[in-house]
Amino acid sequence: MMYAKRDSWAESCLRGKFFGGKCTIQRVESMNKYVKDYLRKDIKLFECIPAIDRAMLRLRNTTTKDGFNAKYSTPVLKTALTKLEQQASLIYTHRCFILVHHEIESCSALTHDKVMYNFGGRVYLLSKYGEPHGNWTCVYHGGENMRIECGCQKYESERIPCCHLFYVMKCEHLT
Ligand SMILES: [Zn+2]
Repeated sequence: MMYAKRDSWAESCLRGKFFGGKCTIQRVESMNKYVKDYLRKDIKLFECIPAIDRAMLRLRNTTTKDGFNAKYSTPVLKTALTKLEQQASLIYTHRCFILVHHEIESCSALTHDKVMYNFGGRVYLLSKYGEPHGNWTCVYHGGENMRIECGCQKYESERIPCCHLFYVMKCEHLT
């Protein structure tokens, strides 16, 4: 029975599906810890619901604050890929932008061995500087339906573009 349901739990089957960068258990544990901060051992039942309400209110307040900061302030841009970084700073909240910024910085450590034409686009075989065997494959499809696909599928599962995507954007002079 478990094998028949492997699409719901096996990590190899979940690759490329969106989980916001967290696995199911992490999300539950993180929420448990968050709510526990508002509960005491000797709390009465009638005090429990208002305490959880306060925890949820604080969580919503944090989300609203993130949205406000993203709308009315701009993070400091630090990399040489200014246009990409600036575009990302407009799309993501500051908290998420820190993750995106890390990916943009990481693309400086990448290199590509060769570019091939296959799968209806340009195929980049990427490797890390100092480790010259291709580890990641990115396919760039130009034209009207422009898109880039990366084998690591980080974007599909976390909605954060990986450093490989940024590397190809840099090579293709995308802004
Ligand atoms: Zn990737």
